[in-house]
Amino acid sequence: MDEQIHRSGERVEKFCAVCGEERGHIVASVTKSGRITSVSCPKCGTRSRFKAGAEVTARAPARTGAPYDSTRTYRAGQSLTHPVFGVGEVMAVIEPQKIDVLFPDRMRRLVHTRTLK
Ligand SMILES: [Zn+2]
Repeated sequence: MDEQIHRSGERVEKFCAVCGEERGHIVASVTKSGRITSVSCPKCGTRSRFKAGAEVTARAPARTGAPYDSTRTYRAGQSLTHPVFGVGEVMAVIEPQKIDVLFPDRMRRLVHTRTLK
């Protein structure tokens, strides 16, 4: 059986004890053989050890989001797929029409609930 090789910066689903909910975490460090050793929570910033073979398995969220549509209204926790940035997860609604979305490389602020003229 091949072991999955991971790189830092990848996303994994993990339960955050601080936030009290499961969310996508950023892989913070890996071993030379590509095993995840620690991850950090994008919301509260908590860095925690990652146990291989724990209840969590990896990589991109199972549900890849629907294509990003700025006229839609998003809620925290939803996934979307941006044509340029890739798959992201809505971390927070900042203003009525602005959301912070975590993409594989970094957090980006996007518009939502945009009204068409
Ligand atoms: Zn957290």
